[in-house]
Amino acid sequence: MIRPNMHYKELKDSYLFYNIAQKTKTYIEEHPGTKLLKMGIGDVSLPLCDAVIQALHEAVEEQASPKSFHGYMPECGAAFLRERIAKYYESRGVSVSPEEVFVSSGASDELGDILDLFACSSSALVVEPAYPAYVDANVMAGRKIVHLDSGEENGFLPEPNEEVKADLLYICSPNNPTGAVFSRKQLQAWVDFANKHGAVILFDAAYEAFIEDETLPHSIFELDGARTCAIEICSLSKTAGFTGTRLGYTIVPKELERNGMCLHEMWVRNRTTKTNGVSYIIQKGGAAVFTEEGQKQIHENIQVYKNNAKVLMQALDKLEVWYCGGKNAPYIWMKCPNGMGSWEFFDYLLHEIQVVGTPGEGFGACGEGYFRFSTFGSLEDTKEAAERLVKLLSK
Ligand SMILES: *Cc1c(COP(=O)(O)O)cnc(C)c1O
Repeated sequence: MIRPNMHYKELKDSYLFYNIAQKTKTYIEEHPGTKLLKMGIGDVSLPLCDAVIQALHEAVEEQASPKSFHGYMPECGAAFLRERIAKYYESRGVSVSPEEVFVSSGASDELGDILDLFACSSSALVVEPAYPAYVDANVMAGRKIVHLDSGEENGFLPEPNEEVKADLLYICSPNNPTGAVFSRKQLQAWVDFANKHGAVILFDAAYEAFIEDETLPHSIFELDGARTCAIEICSLSKTAGFTGTRLGYTIVPKELERNGMCLHEMWVRNRTTKTNGVSYIIQKGGAAVFTEEGQKQIHENIQVYKNNAKVLMQALDKLEVWYCGGKNAPYIWMKCPNGMGSWEFFDYLLHEIQVVGTPGEGFGACGEGYFRFSTFGSLEDTKEAAERLVKLLSK
């Protein structure tokens, strides 16, 4: 009899979003007609920008005629998109060649697939609180996981620790769920650590476009030595509203080698074996994001989310509550008041003011006692939620 991958047994139930949905449903059933203010969602609410929509329409039309029809796309991505992305890096002073850009159907896919490059015996370090998929993808592959806690004392931006040994280092900056962003100096310490130990950093830059502080790094390749120790995984999901359209890109530098193996060449081999590329239409839509017009329009949308963040931050400032994030990320991570636990605070907000957020504990044990607000809702709802929060907590 075939033996399934028994590591799936080691997965913990992913109860976070299920639990939230259940608790919310029960509350609505018991209180019909109440309007809940949903401040927990990690999905965008604004539509794709005009430049993207126009490009998508044009690409659909091209597919209708034998002269302009496109069949299979190159597995690693269409040249027109890889070049645009390389130019986008160049505009920030980072040199990346188009062949180092791999077009993907999203960061989640890549975060799982990229593990094919590393031996199952390698261990993974996850800086927590973290996006739950990092842990689960490694559990499925049977890898040892090392959890590195962070907390208020380091602003949820921990330094590498010589006692912690791991081969793959997961770093997400701007961070989901905390909204914290590593400074150049802090990120450099991780790059130096990875080079010193022969580790590889998987840098999740899904939220880079939300950075407004000009001193903060958008890409790990802004740091010296990153080309010999890092892979950067990016997504158009949050930055350009592609959560339902699906498009991302991954940068694997040619200099990245371990044990005499070139990870860039391995990834080319992997992609050409396991994918047949991303749809022409979607790549055309994605290329529009990297035009002047597209950049202007996506930043107008990002600004809408940033205004929501400001509203929430003002409320928390007024309440003198500790929080991080919001300024350079679409998430705000607050400390629950009066020593409340994450789920206790979730219930309190749901029952007292009908506001739904995300309990920090769902992102790792060190998230207990914290709570995540997302800024992807409407301004109207965000204002209302902020007002209710101020009223409730200043009692
Ligand atoms: C939303 C998100 C992504 C994006 O995933 P996609 O598969 O591209 O939609 C990646 N990393 C983090 C931390 C996220 O929150």
